[in-house]
Amino acid sequence: MRVYAPLLFLAIGAALAWMYFFLDRPHLATYPEPSTRIPHVYNGTSSIASIDLLVVYFVPKDMASVTQDEWRPAVKKAVDNLVAFHTVEFAKRSTIAPYIYETPIIGEDSSDTYDTNDTNKGNPAALRSIGDELTERLERGDLQSLRSHFKEMPDIYVVYEGVGSSGSPGGASLINRKFLTDPQYASYGTSYFVHEFYHTIGVPDGYNDLDQSLTSDIMGLGRRTPLEINFLSDDTLQKLGI
Ligand SMILES: [Zn+2]
Repeated sequence: MRVYAPLLFLAIGAALAWMYFFLDRPHLATYPEPSTRIPHVYNGTSSIASIDLLVVYFVPKDMASVTQDEWRPAVKKAVDNLVAFHTVEFAKRSTIAPYIYETPIIGEDSSDTYDTNDTNKGNPAALRSIGDELTERLERGDLQSLRSHFKEMPDIYVVYEGVGSSGSPGGASLINRKFLTDPQYASYGTSYFVHEFYHTIGVPDGYNDLDQSLTSDIMGLGRRTPLEINFLSDDTLQKLGI
């Protein structure tokens, strides 16, 4: 038997060599590595691999005297929760770099001016006027030193001493301070906070004008449930390049 062993190996080797040279070489299909895809704004192209987020506490000038310090730990906790939620949902492929400005920013105008007569649908009018004022003050006014912390203009999250909860694809969002501090909002206030942030990267609402939820994730029904059991739908993540 032992004498046949070299012959056997020779035969196998010859067969392999024949297959290698005369049969078609295997062609492995190539797919892009999932990890090389860059996450982007919703249905868009701008990268969201790293998101600079400036978080400010904004107080209309008529409210300056009633301001207390309870916002600071509440905002820090909400931001920590947002960063943790985002990191998990995006499997670390998109991260948020937050910067919380510790000094309240007093508005140039009073509540009446920011809120207009219509504060429905989350008070988007306040978000627009406060966003415009902050951009101007950061670029050319008294907040230029704050602006210099960032290479590019960051997304801005306004914790507002006034009514509302709103987010815009232009990179700004706003939430009533009370959602983060008042016990009546304890179970879902942070989910509202995170929900509004996702509007800044273009994610649309998951509910309609009649307040009927169309999705079960944080953009729809989930916005009124605790963050711990919340998520972004697979469809939404896909449209964000995940
Ligand atoms: Zn919304």
